[in-house]
This record gives sequence, structure tokens and C-alpha cells, in this order.
Amino acid sequence: MKKISCDIVRDLLPIYVENLASFDTRKMIEEHIEGCDECYNQLKEMQEKVIIPADTIVAPMTTLKKKMNKKKLNIIVITVAAVTAILMLVLVWMNTPILLEYNDNLIKFNSYENGSILVTLNDEVGGYDSSGYPERENNNTTEEYIYHITVWNTLWNKYISKGKEQSFILNANDDGSYNKVKSIYYYTDYSNKITVDKYDRLIYGEDNEGTIVTLPRLTLAYYTLLCIAAIIVCGIIWFVFRKQKKTSRIIGKIAAIPVAYLISQTCIMGFNTSTYSLLFYFYSILLLTIPVYFILIVMIKILKKRMSKHHMN
Ligand SMILES: [Zn+2]
Repeated sequence: MKKISCDIVRDLLPIYVENLASFDTRKMIEEHIEGCDECYNQLKEMQEKVIIPADTIVAPMTTLKKKMNKKKLNIIVITVAAVTAILMLVLVWMNTPILLEYNDNLIKFNSYENGSILVTLNDEVGGYDSSGYPERENNNTTEEYIYHITVWNTLWNKYISKGKEQSFILNANDDGSYNKVKSIYYYTDYSNKITVDKYDRLIYGEDNEGTIVTLPRLTLAYYTLLCIAAIIVCGIIWFVFRKQKKTSRIIGKIAAIPVAYLISQTCIMGFNTSTYSLLFYFYSILLLTIPVYFILIVMIKILKKRMSKHHMN
């Protein structure tokens, strides 16, 4: 046991370094090394060589961990954003104004001596909108006003929180006076009906010359065009700066905003951009844009990683 040759020890050193040696071999080598500088140096050299590759094994392990964490984070962000988006869509759907067709029970008017007109809406009504403008005669405005009222219901109001009768003063001014009301018109959404005439219905006062048609607001169509223009501009800027990674990444993130807006608009309204309830739809679309934006950003990140992996392979 005592005297083994350096050759045998050196044959066994690789096994020793890799921790594969048996207890007896280990003991034997350690005993030999204590008395042999040459073999000791040989061992040191081999251990150093082994440590270097060991280091390169550790490094990918930590980056792998980081990658796993990033993947987890991506999944969390997408899940939270998707759940938020779905909840928002449900809320929007529940609260979407369904313009009501006129019937005699829907609206009642009470005019008082001070000139005010109280409008009372029955419990079928979830929400209302009214607007007035002075009547024009030969390009001059008169003292008399023409008002438009529209009322709607929502699924939320119909099934979840039963609405109550509500009322409002139609013609109040900020200074406490009341506008003279010549006529009140009622409008509803006729876009799905072909047979009925599409004129606003006179429900109070006297008829005006000519017929009045309240048209759906088209502003959302302009926003759509604006978004498309913004995407094109971002595309051009990106193309110019495509070699500067940081700049092009920022431009990508900016371009995702109008894209997210267009996606949420399509989710809420389909491809129809004209509406009688502009503000409702506009705010709904803006709110939905936020989670959609996060989903987009994370999905682009994941796609980019996949693409760069394909390049490497
Ligand atoms: Zn030796």
C-alpha cells in the first residue's frame, strides 16, 4: 500500500479530481501526495482546469433561472392582463347603451310656472342624454330652444340593479334662468331598421319646418384613421433607426399603443365606428386599451425571443 508509483497515481488523478474515486483510492492518493510534490502539483493543475469548466456550467444555470423567472413573469403579466380585459369586456357589454324606441310611458313632461320643464323617465330607462340649441331663423338665433333627448337601457340596469324612475330639469341655465322650449325631439338608433322613417320624433311642443335627423357620431372613425397614421409614422421612424437597438425598441413600444387601441375598439365595436353613444364607447375603448397593451408588449417579447432562438439554431 505504501509504495505506489507516481505513474499509478497520475493514472488515477482524473478520477480523483472528478470525485469518482472510491474511498480506498482516495486515501491512497492523498497519502501519496503528502510526500510527493510532483504529483501534488499535477493534481493542483488538474483541479484548476476542472474548476474553469465548472464555472461555465454554473453561469448558464443562473441565466436559465433568470430566464425561467422572466418566463413566469411574462405568464403572470399576460394572465392578469387577459383576465382584466375579459372582465372589462363583460362590464362594457353589460353597460352598453341600448337605445330605446319611443313609447308613451317612457317620458313625461311637467312644465312649471317659472318656465322650467321637468322630464321624468320611467324605470325602463337606464340612462339618458339631452342637448339643446337655440332655434335659428334667417341666420339669427331666436330665444326659443330646440331640445333632443335620447334614452337607453343597459343589461346591467335591466337584470342586475333594477332602475328607478329618474327625472331632470331639461332647460336650466347656469345662472338659474330657464330657456324657452319650442320643441323636444326624441331620437333613437335606427341603424338596424330599414322600414321606419329615420326622423327624430317630435314629443313636445311644435314641429319645426323641415325634419331633424340626429346622425350617429363618426368621431371614432377619425380616431381609427389617426391610429393608422400613428402606426405608419412609427414604422417609418423604426425603419430609419432600425440599427439602433434601444431607439427601435422604444419606437416599438410606442407603436403598440395605437395598435392596442385599434384592437380594443374592434373588440368592443367590431368594425362599426359610428355610434350614438360616443363617450361611452370612447372611454370603454381607452380602458380596454391598457390591458391589451400589456398583452401585446409581452407577446412581442416572447415572439422576438423565439425568432432569435431560430436564428441561433
Ligand atoms: Zn508521485
